[in-house]
Amino acid sequence: MTSLSDLPIRDDLRGLTPYGAPQEHVRIALNVNENTHPVPEAVARDIVIALAEAVLTVNRYPDREFTELRESLAGYLGHGLTAENVWAANGSNEVLQQILQAFGGPGRTLLLFPPTYSMHSIIAAGTGTQWIAAERDDGFEILPETAVRAIREHRPDIVFFCSPNNPTGTSVSLETIAAAYDATDGIVVVDEAYAEFAPADSATALTLLDGRERLIVSRTMSKAFAFAGARVGYLAADPAVADALRLVRLPYHLSALTQAAAIAALAHSGEMLAMVDDIKGQRDRLVVELTTLGYHAWPSAANFVLFGGVDDPHAVFESLLAQSIIIRDIGIAGHLRVTAGTEAETTAFLDALAGLGRPQP
Ligand code: PMP
Repeated sequence: MTSLSDLPIRDDLRGLTPYGAPQEHVRIALNVNENTHPVPEAVARDIVIALAEAVLTVNRYPDREFTELRESLAGYLGHGLTAENVWAANGSNEVLQQILQAFGGPGRTLLLFPPTYSMHSIIAAGTGTQWIAAERDDGFEILPETAVRAIREHRPDIVFFCSPNNPTGTSVSLETIAAAYDATDGIVVVDEAYAEFAPADSATALTLLDGRERLIVSRTMSKAFAFAGARVGYLAADPAVADALRLVRLPYHLSALTQAAAIAALAHSGEMLAMVDDIKGQRDRLVVELTTLGYHAWPSAANFVLFGGVDDPHAVFESLLAQSIIIRDIGIAGHLRVTAGTEAETTAFLDALAGLGRPQP
């Protein structure tokens, strides 16, 4: 049987492992930070009506500039942004890939602050961009001087921040992002996939965009918007950034059906986001109850919680899976990550974990 190593694959891809969050059919899936609340039925109906109309013209290529979608996204973001400031793709993973295709690539470097979203380094590998790991401060924070020191040392072409950070839930301050921007001539990306779950008074890097043409804020409809299956991610930046991405995107990369569904969903952003407060409540409950159970739960501004004090993460993961509950072993020693689900799902997870006994002090 032919194996991957028999193929004339690029040398720099040999030995790498693909993104591999398990996709199991389980009762309770709290492993990939989805919004576990389904799309409200009234909104779903409007989306279907929009799709029904769009499908009548799928003999033609879609609007390559997805102008109406960009207008809708700009309206949703606010902060004085217009359609020219916005770009979108099939999930924010594709947005990040396009950024690395345009600004990274062979001979260029990307600075990351692990532990962070695993796809950042995988997309770097796929685009031939060399990535470099920088240190975090205590509590997974990144102080301005820490970011500046790493940038001065490594002189990267691109810096990725993730705020709130997956898998730790930690936010990155605007002071750190501004200091990093001033310390580099390269591109600074803030992956804000979980921004809507941050406390209401949290500052978003969108407020830093004015006058910073090398700053990019990436967002997604996959999390707060309960739209992971539709694959819609986007960014806000100077209009020149979209000009750069036009050079690398495939023409018509956003299908007419994707555009129609996203526009219809954005017209109902209030209802689509109605569950965010509920999810934040379950996240805060997870932090409290995991602590009561004897674990160390890290504070989180996202829709998941990282918890430590787990003697054998793999064994806990497997025991929960045996009860049809899946969470995430993200490879941090002594830690696991769990997504905040509905109240019933969160209760089922906490009860099952409690049933495994208290962790060893
Ligand atoms: N950024 C972060 C930090 C994420 O955790 C995820 C999804 N897990 C994404 C981006 C990608 O999301 P999507 O491609 O669905 O927009």
